[in-house]
Amino acid sequence: MTKYLQKCKECGKYGLANSKSKCKYCEGQLINPKPPKFSLIDKYGDYRLIYFKEEFKKRFEND
Ligand SMILES: [Zn+2]
Repeated sequence: MTKYLQKCKECGKYGLANSKSKCKYCEGQLINPKPPKFSLIDKYGDYRLIYFKEEFKKRFEND
């Protein structure tokens, strides 16, 4: 399993959560990243993709 990762608000790099919540690259603030819509390592990634396609289709059909 991956360790708890946080994302730097300033430079966008990911780093391990630490007590200071500071980016080791630029010392920017580390924040909790929102779950990405598409992620290859996300086990629900495929499900999300299907869901997104369905939503897209609905919009298409409504037009
Ligand atoms: Zn940074």
